[in-house]
Amino acid sequence: MERRFYRLKEKVEASGETGRMRFIEDPEEMQAEGLRLRRGGALPALVPTMGALHPGHLALVQRAKEEGAPVIVSIYVNPLQFGPQEDFAAYPRQEEADRQTCEAAGVDLLFSPRELYAGDHSTYVTEEALSFGRCGRSRPGHFRGVATVVAKLLNLTQAAVAVFGWKDAQQLSVIRRMIRDLAFPVRVVPVEIQRDLDGLAWSSRNRYLSPEQRKRATAFPRILAEAARRPDGRAWATVELNRMPGFRVDYVEVADGRLCAAVWIDKIRLIDNFPCES
Ligand code: AMP
Repeated sequence: MERRFYRLKEKVEASGETGRMRFIEDPEEMQAEGLRLRRGGALPALVPTMGALHPGHLALVQRAKEEGAPVIVSIYVNPLQFGPQEDFAAYPRQEEADRQTCEAAGVDLLFSPRELYAGDHSTYVTEEALSFGRCGRSRPGHFRGVATVVAKLLNLTQAAVAVFGWKDAQQLSVIRRMIRDLAFPVRVVPVEIQRDLDGLAWSSRNRYLSPEQRKRATAFPRILAEAARRPDGRAWATVELNRMPGFRVDYVEVADGRLCAAVWIDKIRLIDNFPCES
């Protein structure tokens, strides 16, 4: 991450492009800017994130840039998608580093609202079919929070394209369904999962892992990748993952042609998936 970040930064500095990124915190200002871009004929591409940016996020930014339109990154740790026992308060926040990363990556506009919901906010977007299994089972209300914030971010940014990672496969399908069902004029662009050298998918939550847990965690993608090549992959992965010390399987399921899983490693929950090959 560090090396890649500094390489990007050097490249951007050499091209004289630094200092061009706009930074907006105020939702009203964001919407005015989104409307201005639209009126000028631009079709902005949005990369919604919760910050603590890593190379997985950067791959989404690079893909957004390929659209040839202004790239907007949003950073907002959305309280609505966290359960009461989850890590909202502890979720990593690193505003200045993220700002520099976005600037170095050539982002045109960073939208980083302090708050998105009025105290008496009472309107939600609920997808009622794809949201309930898998992560929705152990995280009730999570996808309602995700769909609500994405709908709001699309309205604020006026994005015509929204880039999401396959890392959160269920989120991707819920958002696609919401966009279709509610006729948002937005094209969803998915990006394949980006992995660190040890195979672990990049995730802001990986920093919760101790070096020893991280070592053990590499069994997760290794087992899942092998399972995705087997016809009995789901059952096989369930057995193999449960066999790993300190692992507890939340689910292993096939969805969207991918073998998807969530495991607890001690108290840390990781998700991952691989396209099924058999
Ligand atoms: P987050 O900040 O975790 O909410 O993620 C923001 C976006 O980045 C979502 O669309 C995620 O699916 C995507 N993303 C996160 N990690 C990865 C990864 N390792 N590879 C590809 N996309 C990712």
